[in-house]
Amino acid sequence: MTRTSRVAIVTGSTSGIGLAIARTLAQQGADVVLNGFGQPDAIEKERAGIEAEFGVRAVYSGADMSKGDEIAAMVAQAETDFGAVDILVNNAGIQYVSAIEEFPVEKWDQIIAINLSSAFHTMRAAIPGMKKKGWGRIINTASAHSLVASPFKAAYVAAKHGIAGLTKTAALELATHKITVNCISPGYVWTPLVEAQIPDTMKARGLTREQVIHDVLLQAQSTKEFVTVEQVGALAAFLCTDAASQITGANIPVDGGWTAH
Ligand code: NAD
Repeated sequence: MTRTSRVAIVTGSTSGIGLAIARTLAQQGADVVLNGFGQPDAIEKERAGIEAEFGVRAVYSGADMSKGDEIAAMVAQAETDFGAVDILVNNAGIQYVSAIEEFPVEKWDQIIAINLSSAFHTMRAAIPGMKKKGWGRIINTASAHSLVASPFKAAYVAAKHGIAGLTKTAALELATHKITVNCISPGYVWTPLVEAQIPDTMKARGLTREQVIHDVLLQAQSTKEFVTVEQVGALAAFLCTDAASQITGANIPVDGGWTAH
């Protein structure tokens, strides 16, 4: 792929899929705004590493994706620092596993805020700049759970189905502005988010760790392999190319055949 001189915000990019997307976009020549939580030393190491390895600018925003005002400030800061936001990747997300009747209300609110409403807030802030420039790419990390459900993940499945709908609506609104809006919907990708839900799933279903990995997580994934973060990063980079300019409003599974069932 040819190198670009774009500016990308990737939310939730201190870890997992978001970090891989940010690194892949930087490898293609994009300046990047990293975002997410974590140890300051580790975040700084990633940020400086991206600059050194790929010869781009990388800055970090600690904006909390559950807070609309912090999200608006992050986009405004990026526009001030870099002059534009060309690529917006809404990726930050959390998970909580519990039966609906025991689902903590604050967890429901938090998941809807971070996994769904944050994308509304980032788009609301970034779209005017993209329209002015006449070019943009919005990529939402949805999930196989934007297409199908699993028990005990009520808030996550609701938020991910929501982001699939938001994606289609934004794609229609922006179709004549050379701004594409798409979802990438991974199946199970081996990241801290997946690792962290194993104990709760063991508890909710009364299973061992190995049973959760093989009988729950990889059960529906036909290839019986986890997706890699690099594979998701490569698809995000492709969606930012001119070759992908007619792909908009799509929800693209990267799920080892899970949603083909
Ligand atoms: P991860 O836990 O490795 O990364 C999540 C990122 O989001 C981290 O950088 C974290 O700091 C950030 N984050 C969490 N809360 C935040 C907040 N309030 N404000 C700002 N940043 C916040 O998880 P991951 O697996 O890389 O997940 C990334 C995205 O991919 C999520 O939207 C997730 O739902 C989605 N996804 C993951 C999988 C999978 O199997 N791992 C599958 C499908 C979809």
